[in-house]
Amino acid sequence: MGRMALREGATRLFVLALSVAGWLAPAAAAEERRTEISALASRIEALPDRSRLLFDLTGLPPVTAYPVANPPRIIVDLPQVLFRMEANAGLSPGDKLIKSYRYGIFAPGRSRVVIDLTGPAKILKADSEVAPGGPRLVIELAPTSAAYFAVTAAEQARRQPADPPPAILPPQAAKLSTDKPMVVIDPGHGGVDMGATGRHGELEKDVVLEFARALRHKIEAGGRARVLLTRDHDMFLPLAERVRIARENNASLFVSVHADTLAAAHVEGATVYTVSERASDAEAARMAEKENLADQAAGLESKADADEVGDILFELTRRETRSYSRQFSHSLISFWKEVGALNKNPNRSAGFVVLKAFDVPSVLLELGYLSSDKDLARLTSQDWREHAAQKTAEAVDAFISERSREARAPADNPSGAARPQ
Ligand SMILES: [Zn+2]
Repeated sequence: MGRMALREGATRLFVLALSVAGWLAPAAAAEERRTEISALASRIEALPDRSRLLFDLTGLPPVTAYPVANPPRIIVDLPQVLFRMEANAGLSPGDKLIKSYRYGIFAPGRSRVVIDLTGPAKILKADSEVAPGGPRLVIELAPTSAAYFAVTAAEQARRQPADPPPAILPPQAAKLSTDKPMVVIDPGHGGVDMGATGRHGELEKDVVLEFARALRHKIEAGGRARVLLTRDHDMFLPLAERVRIARENNASLFVSVHADTLAAAHVEGATVYTVSERASDAEAARMAEKENLADQAAGLESKADADEVGDILFELTRRETRSYSRQFSHSLISFWKEVGALNKNPNRSAGFVVLKAFDVPSVLLELGYLSSDKDLARLTSQDWREHAAQKTAEAVDAFISERSREARAPADNPSGAARPQ
């Protein structure tokens, strides 16, 4: 090929590239595509003196890693990295130092790897580099003393603000010219926090998101309420953020959707939880404890929740809200009898952080157990999901109708219409 033809070819290619870029539209979108890095696979190499965790990448992101105590973990912060690999790859890597690891989106534009340790470890290396096989993320850890780990974790905790990044803007419902009540549905977990896992790699965060979407569809079809999902994709969301979304959108009802696992594979069926100071039973206490660890799963420090107390109006509102929550819980259970997949003891309560909005009636619907073959078959069946979502939507409709009827006819409200003298 002559020089002329070569130049002509190059020019044509350049023009083609320009016009393709033109179709693909906004420069920002093109920029995003260029900078988004994917992780394709991960593995652990156990060396005599250290454990090396590797992720194969498509680019070289900046890496920040630090230890977090109680329990001992290593957090690896990255810009948004798309994890195009099996979500349960890090569940039981069989390493002597790395108990398990999780990864996913942590906040908009940010991804995170959380490494659960078997004991205190120090970070020898945490970086992205070009290896013969291509770019990769390398994290090298070695055992260390408990004292050294405690000191570095405490230093880190001082440097990092205790609170999560959430530059997350809470989803705001579109302001419509309608006064329909708002129902906030909260698919549990997400992103780096996977929740419970099934035997064949089924993930609670995916199962509950699918159910939440089906439920939104059914409620909207009923036409009585507007619906907002706290998350509509695979993203981490702190517990407090979920509560905030319900409150800031003046929700009339908040339904958090979960699915559990148990060692006892015969335990099956759905359970509806409400919040209470004292757990209804040991199983409910265990559940609340586990679900309240969601923030910790994403590497946040767990904080003791400061209950707001003392204000009489606050107390009265909270008492009324809890009574509405129990009312909805009973109704939901009776609608679910038609679904035919209830736990033996479906009505329980415990101290769930996510149910603590003092002015929004809130329940946690545990769809079933990923550890039960029967539940797993139900939870992964589209027919079952549609039917269960339909019955849940009917319970929501009944609750919303009852509340608006009460609001229209405040007959028992002594502060209402003046009584005849
Ligand atoms: Zn859960």
